[in-house]
Amino acid sequence: MTGTAASGAGVFGELAGQDAVVAELRGAAAAASAVLRGEPNTGMTHAWLFTGPPGSGRSVAARAFAAALLCPDGGCGHCPSCHQVRTGTHADLLLVRPDGLSYGVKQTRNLVLRAAGVPSGGRWQVVLFEDADRATEQAANALLKAIEEPPPRTVWLLCAPSAEELVTTIRSRCRLVVLRTPPAEAIAEVLSAEGVAPDRALTAARAAQGHIGRARRLATDAGAAARRDDVLAVPPRLTGLGPALSAAAALVKAAQAEADAITADLDEPERGALRRAFGEGSTGKGVAKAIRGVAGAMKELEDRQKSRATRLKRDSLDRALLDLAAFYRDVLAVQVGAAVDLASAGHEADVRHRCRGYAAAFPNAAANLSIASASLKSSSVNPPASCVDSVTSTVL
Ligand SMILES: [Zn+2]
Repeated sequence: MTGTAASGAGVFGELAGQDAVVAELRGAAAAASAVLRGEPNTGMTHAWLFTGPPGSGRSVAARAFAAALLCPDGGCGHCPSCHQVRTGTHADLLLVRPDGLSYGVKQTRNLVLRAAGVPSGGRWQVVLFEDADRATEQAANALLKAIEEPPPRTVWLLCAPSAEELVTTIRSRCRLVVLRTPPAEAIAEVLSAEGVAPDRALTAARAAQGHIGRARRLATDAGAAARRDDVLAVPPRLTGLGPALSAAAALVKAAQAEADAITADLDEPERGALRRAFGEGSTGKGVAKAIRGVAGAMKELEDRQKSRATRLKRDSLDRALLDLAAFYRDVLAVQVGAAVDLASAGHEADVRHRCRGYAAAFPNAAANLSIASASLKSSSVNPPASCVDSVTSTVL
């Protein structure tokens, strides 16, 4: 699938526009192999922190590095080990991806125990912890100990939007890898290599404003593209308080519907799998007792599912706010005559139409949307009231 991009680049082929990072990680992987051969350590580190703006490829970089550490050939991209890392099935790779709003101490302790195991492939035991900023304070403390004194063959790869989002004690023990927002052309190149038509890839890359995953979805998922079109149809309709309130309500409702659709597909199969794991449908000694035990586990699962649903809804709202912010940035860019590529491809007429009035309001609009987006991450209200307020005040 990514054969073209990966040719020559190995496992790092999917990283768009991050040449400096790739060079550093290649060097570290080579140093790690030297350590395994019993040579002196010239640049291998046991704890890494990958940071960068959302969509810049933090977890892609971390996963590529994991593959390079585990592959006998430094991350060739085509051996069984590289393939297993790509599919998330490698026995020596622990993938942690918090799908709820936070990651708790119990899960972290469990993870630390597993991370201490001896690598079955004889190389490294790699823990890739995405969204490490979601670890609770207690969880972070549990993690700290493991990172301070890692077993000789364990490597921790933490990912977070910025180093500031982790407690100082953890980040000071990690080697920092900073990814930049990739240019649209670099993202388009990766998508083209995956089979997307070049024009379509470039349009999606510009619309996604440096977010690779979002660009991929816009280029390949008609539903995601349609939802974005719905969001970009909002500004032309905003003629007063009434339409603005309706638009804000519609955005929240659409986010709920999107989250519902995703969770509906996930929740029931997970509950079914749990019931089967506890012996539902079986007969024999001990089954009745096991089925009684399912209630507690089911409650835990349902709490996690609820937390995930909230996060999905907020992510969806966040995407809508980012699209709106990009629209108003485009308006500003056209107004001041900046020679930049517009993110709102396909909506140029609306952008130009907006340029004709309310000129003074647009810097505020873009700023308000950024505040709204930030409030989504910190608010415990659902939906965050400040977010709805900001949408309403932005669009007026
Ligand atoms: Zn390989």
